[in-house]
Amino acid sequence: MKDDTRFRILIVDDEKSSLNILGNILKNDYDVLIAKSGQAAVKKAVDERPDLILLDVLMPDMNGFIVLLKLKENDATRSIPVIFITGLDDPEDEEKGLVLGAVDYIKKPFNNAIVRVRVRTHIQIVKQIRTIEQLGMIDALTGIPNRRSFDERMMTEWSRARREEAPISLLMMDVDKFKTYNDTYGHPQGDVLLQTIARVFEAAVRRSADMVARMGGEEFAAILPGTDLEGAVAVGETIRENVRAAVVPFPGTGKLTSATISVGAASITPRHGNAMGDFIRKADEMLYNAKKSGRDKVCS
Ligand code: GH3
Ligand code: MG
Ligand code: MG
Repeated sequence: MKDDTRFRILIVDDEKSSLNILGNILKNDYDVLIAKSGQAAVKKAVDERPDLILLDVLMPDMNGFIVLLKLKENDATRSIPVIFITGLDDPEDEEKGLVLGAVDYIKKPFNNAIVRVRVRTHIQIVKQIRTIEQLGMIDALTGIPNRRSFDERMMTEWSRARREEAPISLLMMDVDKFKTYNDTYGHPQGDVLLQTIARVFEAAVRRSADMVARMGGEEFAAILPGTDLEGAVAVGETIRENVRAAVVPFPGTGKLTSATISVGAASITPRHGNAMGDFIRKADEMLYNAKKSGRDKVCS
């Protein structure tokens, strides 16, 4: 996530004055959304997916505890942190709120500076969780999506292609003789080569729906939605040539190293009865053919 993203906070209170005060405290640092009832809060949370919710407990239509339960029941809103802001000052209410899953509990009348700081703390946590989630989907060495991202995206794009009766293509790519490269130049140099190749892929695969992922080791894949076989082979050829042309200096020697890749391409307009697994296997098979028939090739 970009650092300049403005986080969005939903403030829920049936009293206009409370909404105004809280809005004023937070509006400089966040985008503020408001809801004036429990019902409206649940709807707004689902529709707008705020990053944090400040929730009043006593409201005429639906109290805050019920609102929180409803948020926790829905996959779309379950993980949005909720801070109760309430006039109730019985410790049992505070305990109840926290047990139900609120991240914090602030009593009215509140101190503006404390509200601001507590909100900032919870937004920091949201930021950290987002980073962790992102790292889980990104390959640490190359910074491109990993196998998990590939699996997820493949499923989405396969369903979309089927729904829209549109073609989808897949490239499976593997560095040739990478073991020899590692044995010759060492593993760290091999890592630099993989990073360089990942940059070549990113540059070659330009449409916003396309995705390149590192599947593991020296194997990569590209998903090309809305692309037919001819287009996929063209992208594969570009990648093959650009990888071949990319040189990686071997430090201390002045020597320039490079590698080649083999590419398997498959394309389909998925219909009822086609299995995604078969399609992926087809691309793997084409990669195997490229290896068998001499490497540094695209087979389809
Ligand atoms: P082929 O042309 O048939 O693909 O031969 P190959 O040598 O590329 O294939 P093989 O699967 O025999 O060897 C792959 C090598 O890739 C072995 C492994 O040590 C290396 N490798 C896997 N992951 C990494 C990595 O993250 N960094 C480095 N430097 N090497 C890696
Ligand atoms: Mg290989
Ligand atoms: Mg291999």
